[in-house]
Amino acid sequence: MVDMIQINDLKFSYPDGSAALRGVSLSVKPGEFVTLCGLSGCGKSTLIRILNALAFADLGTYEFDGDIIDEKSMKKESFAKAFHQKIGYVFQNPEAQLFCASVEEEIAFAPMQMGLPEEEVKRRVEDCIALLNLGSLRDRAPYYLSTGEKKKVAIASILSMNPKVLVLDEPLSGLDTETEEWLTGFLLQLKKSGKTMIIATYNHKFAGTVADRIVFMDRDHHIDHIWKRDTDL
Ligand code: ADP
Ligand code: MG
Repeated sequence: MVDMIQINDLKFSYPDGSAALRGVSLSVKPGEFVTLCGLSGCGKSTLIRILNALAFADLGTYEFDGDIIDEKSMKKESFAKAFHQKIGYVFQNPEAQLFCASVEEEIAFAPMQMGLPEEEVKRRVEDCIALLNLGSLRDRAPYYLSTGEKKKVAIASILSMNPKVLVLDEPLSGLDTETEEWLTGFLLQLKKSGKTMIIATYNHKFAGTVADRIVFMDRDHHIDHIWKRDTDL
């Protein structure tokens, strides 16, 4: 199968001069579940931001579905909009992405921005509320929910866009054991439905449970790939 995501020799430094990525190459096929692992500071979050075009590499290339993703291509509004609908990003801190007055509005926001008909927006909101079991919270203000509840709302607000790829940065951070277990099962269920999943996590046990392929990044930014199971992807 053709790669959906292809990054080649990416290099990235922050404005203060610290090199966060020193030549990372990675490809992801449709339907694959890939975890990015490695110690704190190895560049997982930086790579995730680049994958979502919230930052751009200094050197190297990033292709998504055959299109080059860089500062220039993302300046075209229609291209950028289409790209952001294909790849959904759940931040490590859900508070950073929740801004609506109610859970229901939060989940409706992206499909409304996409210009979908009202009936379709409603259908997606109901589907996502059911999928994440958020019925009892639908009128609540996301801001006052617990961390686990916020995480669920953040995931629902991204899934309502129906992206092909779902990217999560440290999805278990701040969750209690019960919510961790629930989320692990939920992410596996999403993979079964055909979503491509890319997850940054320092939790190797979690990575081993969910991933088809574990990508280890080290501080020198060499990466190793470990395939958990034979796959014909
Ligand atoms: P990880 O997610 O694996 O913990 P990060 O991508 O957050 O790693 O960080 C990679 C490197 O880049 C680290 O050395 C970190 O200190 C540095 N870094 C991250 N964010 C910034 C920033 N905004 N400004 C300067 N350096 C940063
Ligand atoms: Mg990180």
